[in-house]
Amino acid sequence: MKLSAFGEKFSAGAGILSLMEDLGRAMTDGETIMMGGGNPGHIPEIQEAMRRRLLDLAADGQALRKLIGIYDPPQGDHDFCQALADLLHRLYGWEISGENICLTSGSQSAFFLLFNLLAGKTPTGGVQKILLPLAPEYIGYADLGVESDLFVSVRPNIEEIGERFFKYRVNFDEISIGPDIGAICVSRPTNPTGNVLTDAEIGELFRLAREHDIPLIIDSAYGLPFPGMIYTDAVTPIWERHLVVCMSLSKFGLPAARTGIVVADAPLIRLLSGANAVINLASCGFGAMLATEIVATGEIIRLSNEVVKPFYQRKMEQALAAIEEQFTDFPYRVHVPEGAMFLWLWFPDLPISSRTLYQHLKQRGVVVVSGDYFFPGLAPGWRHADECLRITYAQDEQDVRQGIGLIADEVRAVWKAAAP
Ligand code: PLP
Repeated sequence: MKLSAFGEKFSAGAGILSLMEDLGRAMTDGETIMMGGGNPGHIPEIQEAMRRRLLDLAADGQALRKLIGIYDPPQGDHDFCQALADLLHRLYGWEISGENICLTSGSQSAFFLLFNLLAGKTPTGGVQKILLPLAPEYIGYADLGVESDLFVSVRPNIEEIGERFFKYRVNFDEISIGPDIGAICVSRPTNPTGNVLTDAEIGELFRLAREHDIPLIIDSAYGLPFPGMIYTDAVTPIWERHLVVCMSLSKFGLPAARTGIVVADAPLIRLLSGANAVINLASCGFGAMLATEIVATGEIIRLSNEVVKPFYQRKMEQALAAIEEQFTDFPYRVHVPEGAMFLWLWFPDLPISSRTLYQHLKQRGVVVVSGDYFFPGLAPGWRHADECLRITYAQDEQDVRQGIGLIADEVRAVWKAAAP
């Protein structure tokens, strides 16, 4: 088979695919402790709310016909988009209507469309890129460009906090936006670190976007208004013409329903809908139909604040306590866990690379993700990028505790082996 350059991107050699296969195997072998993936936890109260809604839809002939038998328009389920626009206006005063919202098959496919609409070769022969102003950033962006080298990213400032924590801060001194930048993108909270960019950082990025007339894309897959997995002081969600806010129903508890949501200026929404029509014909309406009622009533906000957020916050606190108890006699720091469902561990001066540590841990029966995957677009040569691991605390608490114990044993063994 003779593959195109596009085909080669998806062949088995692509880094992220081999990682995904590794994670997939670990998920199904029944023995490995899975602290690598991004699957949300299973929250009984959310599942019960969705079960009731599904039964109601199934019992209503007309609703069922729509649920399984009708293509939605390319922009997505009209009732859902309208209900969400109303909710966002009520909550935050955003001046939007249904015309500002487009649904995609998971937000992952929204990023594929947005990045390739805004970066790559230009009609005038130039090249545009997506600026990731703070690396590390979401691994899932890395391979989304139809063309290679779609990203340019910037090393952050590291603020050490107390003995055991640190926080990345956007290094604005290193950010320069030339005509080759098509958009800026940040995840907030950030996957992999759990960082929540401050309102001041977002404000400055927004100012830069407006000044250069490019969009600032804010990936709110874990953030506001749902699933609301933010454990720090309140942050203010903003939307204006230069902002593109991407949301998802996945981390609220519906990853299989594949519902991504883009809030943007109407012309960009029309462009996205067109691209969505070409690639998918129609958006998947399943998640939208399941969620329209709780969006219209605002119940999705109550469930996010009172059920989803405490579920993860408790798990985060337990994982952190296990780390403090078990990570003894070797150097480490944890990124302040301000949101999402990950802990980002930094082992300063670790004698082996995080990729090798990942292999050792796999042999011990715990799967994590090596930190070096999370620096798409960053010039090589920053040792810090090889000193970090991402662990997920969304799954079973006993497993997480045991996994943390195995990480501690292995890091201790690595330091011992390197001792003179
Ligand atoms: N953005 C971030 C930061 C993520 O972590 C993920 C998935 O893990 C996504 C986007 C994509 O999620 P989905 O396609 O399920 O909406």
